[in-house]
Amino acid sequence: MYITCLDLEGVLVPEIWIEFADAAGIPELKKTTRDEPDYDKLMKYRIDILNEHGLGLKEIQETIEKIDPLPGAKDFLDKLRANGQVIIISDTFSQFAMPLMKKLGYPTIFCNELTVSDDDKITGYKMRCDKTKLTTVKALQSCGFQTIASGDSYNDLGMIENSKAGFLFRTTDEIKAKYPNLQAFEEYTDLYDTIISAQK
Ligand SMILES: [Mg+2]
Repeated sequence: MYITCLDLEGVLVPEIWIEFADAAGIPELKKTTRDEPDYDKLMKYRIDILNEHGLGLKEIQETIEKIDPLPGAKDFLDKLRANGQVIIISDTFSQFAMPLMKKLGYPTIFCNELTVSDDDKITGYKMRCDKTKLTTVKALQSCGFQTIASGDSYNDLGMIENSKAGFLFRTTDEIKAKYPNLQAFEEYTDLYDTIISAQK
């Protein structure tokens, strides 16, 4: 019994914060974990900027609604879901992912949550658990599933390396060079064929 575990941003949809920064016209929000490795510090910086611009959750979700999945992502996901269970495991927040899940046909997603005040302001965030992606594939394995995982970033490596099969997708040259043992794909058709073969 296999479950395919897919990363969201960079694999099925663009990087949400970068797209959001463009859509909202707030270039300061383009800062990512590559510029600020301390995630807590980065999130506090982002939340302060959102509050400075008077952006509540409703306005943010309206802006995220303008973001589309990557071309071909929905077809890939639909085909994969017709052949087995798929869970998207992401470190984004459910409130940000929601408008994008609608465009992907409401697949199952495990992600984190923002805390929001009664007047719709983002006040903080809550991670589901430590090492979210790795912990989740291990939990699935503990209840009888074998996992196949794919993602593009450093935070995907735990689930990729600890699954029955794991693949990089549209990753960076740096990660490819550091992990030459991992197969890396650029096209959905190649990733789909390889995932299906790994289930046999
Ligand atoms: Mg990603």
